Amino acid sequence: MGTLIKNGTVVNATGSQRADVLIQGEKIAQVAANISNDSHQIVDATNLLVMPGGIDVHTHLDMPFGGTTSADDFETGTIAAAFGGTTSLVDFAIQYRGQTMRHALDEWMKKASGKAVIDYSFHMIVTELPDAGLGDMDVMVRDEGVTSFKLFMAYPGVFMVDDATIFRALRRTGENGGLVCMHAENGGVIDLLVQEALRKGHKAPKYHALTRPPRAEGEATGRAIALAEMAGVPIYIVHLSSADALQKVREARDMGLPAFAETCPQYLFLSYDNYEEPGFDGAKYVMSPPLREKWHQDVLWKGLAKDDLQVISTDHCPFCMAGQKELGTDDFSKIPNGAPGIETRLTLVHNGGVRQGRISLNRFVELCSTTPAKMFGLFPRKGTIAVGSDADIVVFDPEKQQTLGLKTLHMRVDYNPYEGTVVRGAPSYVISRGAVIIENDRFVGTRGAGQFLKRGPSLASTL
Ligand SMILES: [Zn+2]
Repeated sequence: MGTLIKNGTVVNATGSQRADVLIQGEKIAQVAANISNDSHQIVDATNLLVMPGGIDVHTHLDMPFGGTTSADDFETGTIAAAFGGTTSLVDFAIQYRGQTMRHALDEWMKKASGKAVIDYSFHMIVTELPDAGLGDMDVMVRDEGVTSFKLFMAYPGVFMVDDATIFRALRRTGENGGLVCMHAENGGVIDLLVQEALRKGHKAPKYHALTRPPRAEGEATGRAIALAEMAGVPIYIVHLSSADALQKVREARDMGLPAFAETCPQYLFLSYDNYEEPGFDGAKYVMSPPLREKWHQDVLWKGLAKDDLQVISTDHCPFCMAGQKELGTDDFSKIPNGAPGIETRLTLVHNGGVRQGRISLNRFVELCSTTPAKMFGLFPRKGTIAVGSDADIVVFDPEKQQTLGLKTLHMRVDYNPYEGTVVRGAPSYVISRGAVIIENDRFVGTRGAGQFLKRGPSLASTL
């Protein structure tokens, strides 16, 4: 006996078709019109869309930052992800200075295993790269299925590495098949602007944005791409937020360079104006890069439509206002950076992208599932509705109305950036490796059922 999804429209990146989907065990066994019921458990998908589960390649669950820890752990965070139609995520393990990548991976495996309700993997954050670290990178790619590395051009003294370190890491990926993901902001310039603002007595949350100008992101993005070009390897820019940075990616792609980038819903739907909310409310939106002036949103949407941006992730990194964001009441630079979003990615992008006619349904699937899977070595196991792929499926009702906010959402944080926003289109069922985990707005999955995904090499060169 299997599970049979009947009468739906199967939506893949490559096209849509009316078809039933038969799941046997953890895999998709058949995709065809009118599969006979036999003794299968039936999921009625009449008038619904049957799409590959969302893949969020940028989350920070249970992450220490700025003297506190992100508010969702691997249980609460993955349950929230599941509610939102996401069935796999790639989080970040952090190799702190003086520690090995092996140690970092072990630590993050402990955080996730036994807790995650959907499948997960890790990128490795590299904060230094002595000679031994180069060998560590090879081991991660070859033996551990950790095939991507994140480096920071920002946060001096914490995460930032210099250009030589970046160049070394990039060159090594050319040998071991890994992919470098870059946080591209000019940390030196930003640090100086922050110190200057504080000296002038500028303490409010909005100064977080005013000290991190779009040019600082554009400059670093251009530099990162140039370093990758010199190393002869692809590069992936994370959480791209501004027209300035997008221009650098577009120019590189026009030259035929393998430069890729993701953006996040917050940069498509929120803006600098949110920092001007009364009192300390602007702290809700303190993240890096910061929200930009509203006009950047249109530029980013065009980038998504024209494939200058290939992926939408969330950078989910929630901190409560009470006890966490509050750390920066008298100093914007002490507000923990990050915001919740793991649950609202598909609904927001469907509502604001597909319904508004900015992207097609197939492009929506491509941006939120298929290309993330290809970019990070999970395809075709994940990211497509196809025979032999994992049965990670979201049965999506394009007409279902949802009011986003604390009452309806499941992230473990005391505010929501989209409070009161009404969206149309939301998951009806979510299936993870063959098991229904969300049904009728209830979580029916199992703590610890999520598995660590050993990833293969990036398929970036095919994109
Ligand atoms: Zn991040």
